[in-house]
Amino acid sequence: MAVRGYDVIVVGARVAGAATAMLLARRGLRVLAVDRARFPSDTLSTHQVQVPGVALLNRWGVLDRLRAAGTPATRQVRFDSGHVVLEGRFPAYGGVDALYSPRRTLLDSILVDAARAAGAEVREGYLVEEVVFGRDRVVGIRGHEKGGTPATETARLVVGADGKHSMVADAVGARRYRQRPASTLVSYTYWGGVAMSGGELYQRPTRAVAAFPTNDDLTMIYVEAPRTEFESFRSDIEGHYLKTLEQCADLADRVRAGQRAERFRTTPDLPNTFRVPYGPGWALVGDAGVVMDPITAQGIGNALRDAELLADAIAAGLGRGQPFDAGLAGHQRRRDAAIGPMYDFTTDLAAFNPPRPADQQLLAALRGRQAEIDRFLGVFAGVTPIKEYRSLGNVRRLLGVHGLAKITAATVGAGLRSFRLRPLITEHPEHEQPANAGSETSASAW
Ligand SMILES: Cc1cc2nc3c(=O)[nH]c(=O)nc-3n(C[C@H](O)[C@H](O)[C@H](O)COP(=O)(O)OP(=O)(O)OC[C@H]3O[C@@H](n4cnc5c(N)ncnc54)[C@H](O)[C@@H]3O)c2cc1C
Repeated sequence: MAVRGYDVIVVGARVAGAATAMLLARRGLRVLAVDRARFPSDTLSTHQVQVPGVALLNRWGVLDRLRAAGTPATRQVRFDSGHVVLEGRFPAYGGVDALYSPRRTLLDSILVDAARAAGAEVREGYLVEEVVFGRDRVVGIRGHEKGGTPATETARLVVGADGKHSMVADAVGARRYRQRPASTLVSYTYWGGVAMSGGELYQRPTRAVAAFPTNDDLTMIYVEAPRTEFESFRSDIEGHYLKTLEQCADLADRVRAGQRAERFRTTPDLPNTFRVPYGPGWALVGDAGVVMDPITAQGIGNALRDAELLADAIAAGLGRGQPFDAGLAGHQRRRDAAIGPMYDFTTDLAAFNPPRPADQQLLAALRGRQAEIDRFLGVFAGVTPIKEYRSLGNVRRLLGVHGLAKITAATVGAGLRSFRLRPLITEHPEHEQPANAGSETSASAW
């Protein structure tokens, strides 16, 4: 058995894995990152990187490469709820004032290059078949390159950055909590020749649509619908997709004036769950640790932030003569605090509950108030803290005392125990669920 000791082995080398490997290698650790993919490699994911994620890429020195590859910056955004149309900009964050939507072929490759440049060893086309356990902890992985002989690699810590169906998480029995059923399907493709002046977000009854410029002068257009419609949707993907765009102002006309550049990607495999992210000799990062519906396009930014939180936690345990996982105790708390409110907001949106009059009233109150519109758009970007935005004080400030009294009276009149503005004000018990509650059966995409 070939045994080579690494400080950390990272399984999966896309946004979470490559970023973690890069950050740990920059701290002088001996890191091996492996992925069964060979880069550049696409994956089933659209790719809006929200402003806070872009700020991390900037801080890590990789944003310039995305820009140099011609990735357009998106500063102007239109949000159309069906009743109210708001145009504005995402608020700046961390010295960055734009969202970028780089193709994953580009973003993931740039991060893999950055991990290598930092000194990490990256093996592509390498399949991990099992996690190797010592007496009381994970001690390594067993895997092989295509056609190669399986071998064991050992490390003080094995990090699962292997996505929402994480093999590492399953092997170590990482407990799931705050799990919510998958509720949507997504269908997206790329178009050339579509007139765009920024990003566009549409909310329609049982539909969400996003359109963002990406590399090669293409526009990525994404449709989300309830998962219950999956069988009907898959019977005529293009028909359902275009029918949805027809509900979105003149978007369908602009699309028809252009050309579809790629095939449709469609999937109902959109789980929502947290997993406990560490244990003896192992840790999880990115989708392996928390995955949520893409309706708010947070996964990449979450993965990047999670990589930094995990790298900091690992580093905190260094040089104290203790196991690496000793520094991870606070990691779960920090991660969950950073992601929890957006997770609730996201799963609430993905439930496609019918809008309430109060929602429209609040959105309408933003008309003509540019700073407030930008702040509202910042909720979607993950810049404006959701808890703060949905606080009673903020709603009172936006609606005025009379406006607030009106919607409160209407809600009480409707016999509801508490009012809820969708998507602005939500209430969710922060309870944990048992490990296997409503567990996800994976459905393949095509
Ligand atoms: C349809 C859709 C649209 C989305 N749109 C957006 C969006 O617009 N913006 C956004 O921020 N997020 C979006 N997301 C979410 C985003 O794709 C994920 O959050 C992100 O990819 C998570 O990155 P990751 O590195 O944790 O995992 P992944 O990107 O899933 O990477 C995991 C890697 O692990 C490797 N791997 C797995 N098992 C093994 C093994 N046994 N051996 C070796 N390698 C292995 C895989 O090959 C893969 O490369 C979307 C997701 C979906 C499904």
